[in-house]
Amino acid sequence: MKSLIKKFSFAVTLAALPWMAQAKLNVVATTADFGSIAEAIGGDKAQVTTLAKPTEDPHFVDAKPSFSVRLNRADALVEGGAELEIGWLPPLLDMGRNTKLESGAPGRISCSQGIQLMEVPSTLDRSKGDIHAAGNPHYMTDPENARIVAEHIAQAFSQLDPKSAATYQANLKKFTDELDAKMAEWQKLLAPYKGQEVVAYHNSWPYFAERFGLKIDLFLEPKPGIPPTPTHLAEVIMKMKEDKIHVIIVDPYQNRRTAETVARNTGATVVDVTQFPGGVKGTEGGYIPMMDYLVKSVAGALAQK
Ligand SMILES: [Zn+2]
Repeated sequence: MKSLIKKFSFAVTLAALPWMAQAKLNVVATTADFGSIAEAIGGDKAQVTTLAKPTEDPHFVDAKPSFSVRLNRADALVEGGAELEIGWLPPLLDMGRNTKLESGAPGRISCSQGIQLMEVPSTLDRSKGDIHAAGNPHYMTDPENARIVAEHIAQAFSQLDPKSAATYQANLKKFTDELDAKMAEWQKLLAPYKGQEVVAYHNSWPYFAERFGLKIDLFLEPKPGIPPTPTHLAEVIMKMKEDKIHVIIVDPYQNRRTAETVARNTGATVVDVTQFPGGVKGTEGGYIPMMDYLVKSVAGALAQK
């Protein structure tokens, strides 16, 4: 009897030890939009870290050696695909040497799969420095695409960790329910500005424009990834005056002073935006609070005048 009690208490002690806890799915995301959705789906079953800072240009992330160590230990990689990370991720994956993250492996979650990409060129041409050679990779600004990505991540996590599949499905439902409620609110907030034009620094807003009925097709960059030139900016200023465009949106990693110069010449307002949770103050809470900030700041700027 005594030995039985001893055995029982030993088992209890073991179960209570933290290292006996079920290992979490180790997930690495490239950027904070994917990271925040991976966190929402993974909940307490996944440990998610993000490589790029939310204030960094997703095309040109400062790759640290520690990134390859993280990739080496990961069970899954959540990436944007569509060549978004082509300039910095491949060498890190080579150094990380993790077969779980090989192209086609269940741990390689490429979120552009299942997304209807916009602006896919009929012929591939990088000669002019265009970094959107595979189509526009900034699809996460359309909340309907975030839903597709969330479903994709939930499915992939369930495959990698079947015993937690019910949790992933429940978390997915919670996320999409919240998204549905917010979507109606966002549509209503932007509805009064249908057809209105907004200038952006980089061509990263076609999905947002399409979803909410705005026009965002004039950019401070002459081509995606090519810095603004005086000639091009003069053309932008002329067009803004002609079309009475009075809002310029700028991400944290873009040259705000260039936008301010254009604003001074046109009477426009510069609005700080972000596509990444945490990129601008007040967006730290995740994808939905970030979209909330985005819709409200764009609607607020369009309401002036
Ligand atoms: Zn881009």
